[in-house]
Amino acid sequence: MGSIAPTLPELDASFIKVTRTTTPREVPLPGSPEELSHSHCTDHMVTVRWTSSAGWDTPEVKPFQNLSIPPTASCLHYATECFEGMKAYRGYDGKLRLFRPDCNGERLVMSSQRISLPGFKPEELKLLIAKLLQIDGPRWLPKDRPGRFLYIRPTLIGNGTQLGVQVPKEALLFIIAVPWPDPSQKIGLKLLASRPETIRAWPGGFGSAKLGANYGPSLQFHGQAQAAGFDQALWLFGPDRQITEAGASNFFLVWDNKTTGKRELVTAPLDTQIILPGITRRSVLELALSRLATKQVGGLAPVEVVERTFTMDELTQAWKEGCIVEAFVSGTAFFITPIMLIRDGDLDITLLSEGERAGYAAQIKTWLEAIMYGREEHEWAYVIEGESEKNII
Ligand SMILES: *Cc1c(COP(=O)(O)O)cnc(C)c1O
Repeated sequence: MGSIAPTLPELDASFIKVTRTTTPREVPLPGSPEELSHSHCTDHMVTVRWTSSAGWDTPEVKPFQNLSIPPTASCLHYATECFEGMKAYRGYDGKLRLFRPDCNGERLVMSSQRISLPGFKPEELKLLIAKLLQIDGPRWLPKDRPGRFLYIRPTLIGNGTQLGVQVPKEALLFIIAVPWPDPSQKIGLKLLASRPETIRAWPGGFGSAKLGANYGPSLQFHGQAQAAGFDQALWLFGPDRQITEAGASNFFLVWDNKTTGKRELVTAPLDTQIILPGITRRSVLELALSRLATKQVGGLAPVEVVERTFTMDELTQAWKEGCIVEAFVSGTAFFITPIMLIRDGDLDITLLSEGERAGYAAQIKTWLEAIMYGREEHEWAYVIEGESEKNII
């Protein structure tokens, strides 16, 4: 008789073990150099171990501390690492919210599959984050200072003692939170179009998974762009120079289509798997479809929502013909930020001049902020209940 394969324990946030810090860290002041450094993590972190023989271990909330992993750990040699970028928002009603956290859970599971790391029930991610924020929320995002947020970084790495090239037999999930400066100070971004020798992602590759492996090789061009006074790279792909993404954000264009006579909100499609399926991107598209597609809003003409491949040449041509209304990026880190300028070789394409306003970007940003900070009740907001009493460690 064959024996029944044992079911290994799944990731279960409800078993979480909590160890509180006895040495609370200083909370950086808004706008301080400490906050700008993106390096002052909150008092606690979540860790969960996994092994192929014993499944998911008991999750822990513990004082923020260094990790201990063997030098053979898979992530250090074979880039078995994926992550998420999210924010926790302190609402104007004093409540703490996450924005569409189940989408992040689903995407982390998708990314982890691409690099042979273990899966879990996507909703467990939001429950683990909730446990962390129940403890760190009150001190790091005080209720009497609404309109602020913490950046949350869930990360999954391949671990283990075997150096051979193979699917990792051990993994570690951890979640850290860090105060982050408000990106909305930026009026508009300057982008530098990438050159053919630097390609972020390609069909059949892994550009659609949120992997550290997408970032390391892109930092050289990013660094060159920053040194030349630009904020981000505009990643082009292929001989026809398709516009894919800008830095770690998705790219949107509002233009008047001369052929159809319609105003369009255009962004690159997901089906080629070259771009990252941004949750902000998806939300922009859904809001535009439901609120901007049929009627005029606040002086903004209705737009047709279009996901299709479009090229640098099309953008340049439309710009020369005066058909571009505005362009903006979307993502958790930079949120919704208009694009001021794109440099493509010798050509400077100015999309926003001094004192000008990107009206569609501003409207969509206002709608999203209303949901994130609780000014509008919406199913995309997940309220974190059960925060510790104020300032108690
Ligand atoms: C994370 C990320 C985005 C934005 O995704 P959001 O879910 O909107 O934060 C866009 N592009 C890349 C390459 C990313 O890594």
